[in-house]
Amino acid sequence: MDEPLLSSLNEAQRQAVLHFEGPALVVAGAGSGKTRTVVHRVAYLMARRGVFPSEILAVTFTNKAAEEMRERLKAMVKGAGEVWVSTFHAAALRILRVYGEGVGLKPGFVVYDEDDQTALLKEVLKELGLSAKPGPIKALLDRAKNQGVAPEGLLAELPEFYAGLSRGKLLDVLRRYQEALLAQGALDFGDILLYALKLLEQDPEVLRRVRKRARFIHVDEYQDTNPVQYRFTRLLAGEEANLMAVGDPDQGIYSFRAADIRNILDFTRDYPEARVYRLEENYRSTEAILRFANAVIVRNNLRLEKTLRPVKRGGEPVRLFRAGDAREEARFVAEEIARLGPPWDRYAVLYRTNAQSRLLEQALAGRGLPARVVGGVGFFERAEVKDLLAYARLALNPLDAVSLKRVLNTPPRGIGPATVARVEALARERGLPLLEALREALPLLPRPEPVRHFLALLEELRDLALDSAEAFFRHLLEATDYLAYLKEAYPEDAEDRLENVEELLRAAKEAEGLQDFLDRVALTAKAEEPGEAGGKVALMTLHNAKGLEFPVVFLVGVEEGLLPHRSSLNILEGLEEERRLFYVGVTRAQERLYLAYAREREVYGRLEATRPSRFLEEVEEGLYELYDPYRKPVPPPHRALPGAFKGGERVVHPRFGPGTVVAAAGDEVTVHFEGVGLKRLSLKYADLRPA
Ligand code: ATP
Ligand code: MG
Repeated sequence: MDEPLLSSLNEAQRQAVLHFEGPALVVAGAGSGKTRTVVHRVAYLMARRGVFPSEILAVTFTNKAAEEMRERLKAMVKGAGEVWVSTFHAAALRILRVYGEGVGLKPGFVVYDEDDQTALLKEVLKELGLSAKPGPIKALLDRAKNQGVAPEGLLAELPEFYAGLSRGKLLDVLRRYQEALLAQGALDFGDILLYALKLLEQDPEVLRRVRKRARFIHVDEYQDTNPVQYRFTRLLAGEEANLMAVGDPDQGIYSFRAADIRNILDFTRDYPEARVYRLEENYRSTEAILRFANAVIVRNNLRLEKTLRPVKRGGEPVRLFRAGDAREEARFVAEEIARLGPPWDRYAVLYRTNAQSRLLEQALAGRGLPARVVGGVGFFERAEVKDLLAYARLALNPLDAVSLKRVLNTPPRGIGPATVARVEALARERGLPLLEALREALPLLPRPEPVRHFLALLEELRDLALDSAEAFFRHLLEATDYLAYLKEAYPEDAEDRLENVEELLRAAKEAEGLQDFLDRVALTAKAEEPGEAGGKVALMTLHNAKGLEFPVVFLVGVEEGLLPHRSSLNILEGLEEERRLFYVGVTRAQERLYLAYAREREVYGRLEATRPSRFLEEVEEGLYELYDPYRKPVPPPHRALPGAFKGGERVVHPRFGPGTVVAAAGDEVTVHFEGVGLKRLSLKYADLRPA
């Protein structure tokens, strides 16, 4: 074929790429080339359909995915730099930067991160004279904003005295929080999309303009859209609906952020004229891995049946390592990686919870293997980085009281808590923004000098805010003697912190001005940090692994309580989502997949005996094998013949422990296990032995 944009695709992918106007749904299993299809489709629209790059929007799930897509497009077709490739949040923020005044936003508005949000909530609680923990209130706010409903709407489903507050008081807090945000010229993360949606809903002229910029829309990972993103997409797509939604309902793993897989399941109801494209060939994983993955996911009920055939035949078996404890599990991972050898970025270690990373990091470091944790404490959440960012935000938006309080006496300049209390009281009394109150308070203060200096510094910074982001920070460091402060305040790890400041300067260099820099920071998820070079083993949670692929994957902690996670056990939907999460993890592997669990693990500081994940038991024998090159071989599971046990006989099971046979008929025995209760087992599968 002489069409390079089509020749590297299979027939189904080609059909999807050739889809021109009107709605389309590409629904297919993991590794079937969905993302690749989107990239080719965008390129094809430009190269062969005469669509301008400035009319194309492609929505990705992460900034990193957006970056990758941009790079791939640039390599394929001229002019691709102009295609709007973006996450939902970045797209919405860009709309608000241009048109935000229409919904009451001031220029230079800032986006508060989780810490700022919590800080503001604490302020509000203090102001209202309430003692409650901000955590649950923040959770409530996030949930409401992700669902696109007013927090008041959720109150009815909450227990009385949620967060220790009566309904009325809780309502006061929520209202006051939102007022305070607005007064400070700030949005929280959840507000970004809500405000953009509101803007598009209420202003037809803005809608018309944005639609021109998004005449052809693509949404990757559509199964993880939440109600707000769903409405945003529908509104942008409009009547014309040149919308291509791409996804896999079996990989919906963000319902805890209000994502709803019904959005993808109902696509053809929302757009009855939609064409549906199914991709059935998996190019990513070997046959062995894919068979295992398919066996996992068929256990779910809430799903669309799909076919997924491997292109890569055969392959290494899926291997399971049973560790004594989490330390041994981590050591196994490190030793196996060391044995298989570099390059190290071929490896990913996936786990359910962030806390699991520590032992893995230590084990890898102990083996001298370079590793990076994707996630964890984000770069932009480190204290020194946040200090400098707070100055920058304040320079652009003097109303930002959270940032103001952060830097007022950092580095220390002699503005004590008594002064702060006084200024806050004044601000409240007179209804002034905090900065204004600071100015007004000058004549009232016994020692006004430090405050006067601080105000002068801010003036200076305001002038500099129009410079490049890098110049701004360099000046700031000098004017505040910040590096000297770091060395003095943190003698133990000053080196680290100085490096972080360096890294901030490097990142600032890439931005177009200070505002652009702050927006990028606000949109950078924890999972995506600057300056993380390749050549390292990647450690990350299963959630962060979405959309990625690695030649070798270790999936650790495959235990009851972790995967499925204990928080999900009582709800069917929760359990199915955990199974999807397991499926996502398994399908990241291209060549080799290792699973591991520990027989003992620390849970909330206590060592507990664990049981292997039910997801393992659901998979037929033969789709994986036990693997233990570092200790004496484990005997293969014992398979008793039908009729091998009689009522009353003492038996032992590897998971349930010792028990007594209650009834036996053919292949089936019922056993009472001490502390576990009655279990009906099939001798074909259960590793049951005489005690
Ligand atoms: P996920 O569900 O995990 O997001 P996906 O369906 O988006 O997966 P891609 O990441 O697009 O799948 O593709 C998986 C791998 O298969 C990639 O390495 C991709 O380059 C490769 N691939 C996809 N289609 C083809 C093809 N027709 N020929 C060769 N390789 C392909
Ligand atoms: Mg993909």
